[in-house]
Amino acid sequence: MEEPKEITELEPDYMKAMDIRGLPTTICPCGSKVWNLKTIFEADTGNIDMYFIDMECAVCGTLATAPTPGDFEVQDAD
Ligand SMILES: [Zn+2]
Repeated sequence: MEEPKEITELEPDYMKAMDIRGLPTTICPCGSKVWNLKTIFEADTGNIDMYFIDMECAVCGTLATAPTPGDFEVQDAD
């Protein structure tokens, strides 16, 4: 089993990186669920205020599109 490493040591290797930007996703084709993206926090609550939807897989470096609220809501069939 691999030794755990510090989060600051988690860097993409880019050997198999792809560009799959388009449909929002939460899981990279490599299996990772950890993404690097840019965000801004609300100063008074610490909540995420906004984030850029271009993101990069923390493991393989694949570029993807971050989901936004409502992307995965099921539509009523009426
Ligand atoms: Zn990946």
